Amino acid sequence: MPSALRAENLHFAYTRVPVLENVSFDVQRGDYVGIIGPNGGGKTTLLKLLLGLEKGRGKIFLFDTPLEQFRAWHKIGYLAQKSPVSQSRFPISAQEVVLMGLAQRGSGVSVGELKQVHEAMQKTHTRQYAGTIFHDLSIGQQQRVLLARALVSNPEILILDEPSTALDAQSREMFFDLLGELNKQQGVTILLITHDTGEVGKHISKFMYIDKTVIFFGTKQEFCHSAAVAKQLGPFAQHTIDHLHNHHGHCPLGEDCQECAHGGNHA
Ligand code: ADP
Repeated sequence: MPSALRAENLHFAYTRVPVLENVSFDVQRGDYVGIIGPNGGGKTTLLKLLLGLEKGRGKIFLFDTPLEQFRAWHKIGYLAQKSPVSQSRFPISAQEVVLMGLAQRGSGVSVGELKQVHEAMQKTHTRQYAGTIFHDLSIGQQQRVLLARALVSNPEILILDEPSTALDAQSREMFFDLLGELNKQQGVTILLITHDTGEVGKHISKFMYIDKTVIFFGTKQEFCHSAAVAKQLGPFAQHTIDHLHNHHGHCPLGEDCQECAHGGNHA
């Protein structure tokens, strides 16, 4: 599979204390990567480096192009942890918020741009809110509008930083199902920082565990069997993370699962 996003030997520090050390990985097109790890482990910082918002040592390639030479930013969609739009009380409609996601715009709105906005709102099931003031929407609805904004330029990679923190259980499930559809049906490569490992585990294809460096990067199955993760989290803890994605209480590993074999229930 061709590379979507590659990091080679990244090092970064805000002050003198290193936040990221020796970070290397290769995310391939079509991957859906759940980025997990302890608070302060450097996850958000890593996303900032990948987006060129912070600069450290090492190399980053987007679609095999070095970050410094990369110009096709419309191919990357980003949904930050806290959007300035959510914090401002400015009376702007949901449709205008989505329109803001189109990078290089002249004045006025072209028919083509409006079509892109409508399509993005269609995908995130938010077209019915187009004329509603953004702030009058629920948090879950706002988050889907912000997702539409991240999708409006039809990105090939979508990068999200804990998008579900403020959502109730139902909105969260809907939001993750939506990301799952984008990945499976439209082949969008997704990198997602999340604590919702149970919910997101249904959809992701790979886990990346970051604690200053990449402790683990691989498939869900590999995650369950990784000695490095077991050492970091304690025995069986990774099963708790991976297991919760099955709402029917069945372990996705079946007979392969060490914890089930030992009579545990992962809970
Ligand atoms: P995570 O997303 O895994 O919780 P962060 O990337 O947010 O981790 O933070 C990694 C470390 O960098 C933490 O120790 C945090 O306090 C520190 N940090 C984050 N942002 C800044 C900043 N702007 N200035 C200084 N230190 C920062």
